[in-house]
Amino acid sequence: MTVVVKGLLGRAGCTRMVQGGYNAVLAEPDSIDAHVVDTLAGGGWINDQELVWTLVNEAPGRVRELENRYGCFFDRHPDGRIHQKPFAGQTHDRTIHKGDLTGIEIMNRLTEQVWMRPSIRALEEHRAVELFLDGAGRVGGALVLDIRRGGFTAVRSRATLLAMGGGPTMYRVIACSADKAADGIALALHAGAPVKDMEMVQFHPTGLVVPNSLMTGALLEEGLRGAGGKLLNGTGERFMTRYDPARMERSTRDLVARACFTEVQEGRGSPHGGVWIDVSHLGAKTVEASFRGMVRRCRDFGRDLAREPVEVGPTAHFMMGGVVIDPSCRTAVEGLFVAGEDAGGIHGANRLGGNGVADSTVFGGIAGDAMADWIVGRAMPRLAGPAPEGAAELFTAPLGRREGENLYALQHRLREVMWEHVGLIRHASGLKTALREIEEIGQRTPAATVPDGAAFNLAWQDWLNLQNQVAAAWLITRSALERAESRGSHFRSDHPESGAELYNVLVASDESAGLRVWTEPVRLSRLSPDRVSQPAGVEVGD
Ligand SMILES: Cc1cc2nc3c(=O)[nH]c(=O)nc-3n(C[C@H](O)[C@H](O)[C@H](O)COP(=O)(O)OP(=O)(O)OC[C@H]3O[C@@H](n4cnc5c(N)ncnc54)[C@H](O)[C@@H]3O)c2cc1C
Repeated sequence: MTVVVKGLLGRAGCTRMVQGGYNAVLAEPDSIDAHVVDTLAGGGWINDQELVWTLVNEAPGRVRELENRYGCFFDRHPDGRIHQKPFAGQTHDRTIHKGDLTGIEIMNRLTEQVWMRPSIRALEEHRAVELFLDGAGRVGGALVLDIRRGGFTAVRSRATLLAMGGGPTMYRVIACSADKAADGIALALHAGAPVKDMEMVQFHPTGLVVPNSLMTGALLEEGLRGAGGKLLNGTGERFMTRYDPARMERSTRDLVARACFTEVQEGRGSPHGGVWIDVSHLGAKTVEASFRGMVRRCRDFGRDLAREPVEVGPTAHFMMGGVVIDPSCRTAVEGLFVAGEDAGGIHGANRLGGNGVADSTVFGGIAGDAMADWIVGRAMPRLAGPAPEGAAELFTAPLGRREGENLYALQHRLREVMWEHVGLIRHASGLKTALREIEEIGQRTPAATVPDGAAFNLAWQDWLNLQNQVAAAWLITRSALERAESRGSHFRSDHPESGAELYNVLVASDESAGLRVWTEPVRLSRLSPDRVSQPAGVEVGD
């Protein structure tokens, strides 16, 4: 088996960044039904109910497997039971954690498992750039670029899993790991797999605002608002009184994020284009004890969270949309499996905090088992199309080009367009403008200049990233145009209400028509929203 990782194994991607925790039903009075209903209500009822059912049923077993088989150790009560904390949008205390370093615990233990198995070849700082297909459309591996040396390797396989973590890095401000570029979504779409609900991008309200720093967008977690943190605009007004006077800062994440964004858009922002979060009234000692990590993070750039307001703003956090999969992680393309944030349908219009890492470990595990079964009796596919060396030439074309488009101007333009028109507040006219701009950026990107030298050429990596970010940006924008209603994280100022119909937006590449966009009614295979009592004030968290 070969594992290909764009960064360092166990170090790259978002799972390591997970602080809050992992949702699983372990004890009464919580129940599988309650977790399912919370997830569907949080997702605006457009989730794939079979995937939700699988997630919720499998999560408790995966937690036990992580502890008993792989050596993770989560926080416990004095009597030895695993501690589960309350998390936004959940009717029971369900979130398992290791302090606020849950992701590090999980990734360290799983990485050890990879290194101790000689049968696994790990290719670090390698990236998949294209999938191989045979004459019948079955995937037979990937063309992989060795980022360190700049050379290409053909990795042949009988079954291929894409778990590249989506990643809304086409936005100006991001909370997710910057190495991600929606590569998995672009690769799957190109190979013929449909994607769904790509318009559903989650924005977190309190990303740091640090002028001229890559720290901008990094999260200050939801617990600050939960503990009584106040949000103030540039005039010092506690502006949530105008958006949700009952719940104030504890309102739902999408609403708070939109409120912060509106304050800035309407000229009431802080000096660097955000708003302020103030927890100083809780007392410096309390803040330092309860939010040690956040205090330290703010101190790194000269702010004292315990004693003064800190500038924050909305940040692009997570993609709910992605590749259509079944509960075994199979896609419409033979031999191609998808899991984690690359997959669509699990979280619907909004992800519950704690369901993200449950998703990637549950479906990552299922994909591994399903692939092991699937390859039995199947031969390696015979590849069609150009030899791998021929395909590699397409990707090396910009190296050393002296005249052409400015790569970083195009990248900047894409991020601005997405932030302005396809961000927290959308409107048909802005989405159409964005679509035109994205298409133009997509046409100009291949002609961008990149310095010569293939080894560790980061500009070349950015050129490769930009093409996939443009592809995903188009999918997000076109799907947002198709969804003429507001639901969950998708808000249309020209259609501010949710419609009566529940539907999914799908896109697939079609040889004759380019990309085909259509809608399908949601299959309410297990529950219907009018037949269950909805949890009150559903909020979604980390
Ligand atoms: C700051 C932050 C805090 C979060 N906190 C929580 C939380 O408390 N609880 C929760 O449930 N969820 C949380 N989430 C969401 C959670 O992190 C994600 O749901 C989850 O980590 C996604 O896992 P994944 O395996 O799909 O992707 P990732 O863990 O992101 O892994 C993707 C991997 O694919 C690699 N890759 C990308 N492109 C390529 C390529 N072309 N070739 C080869 N490799 C490639 C990347 O390098 C990376 O190693 C948080 C997210 C962020 C950003």
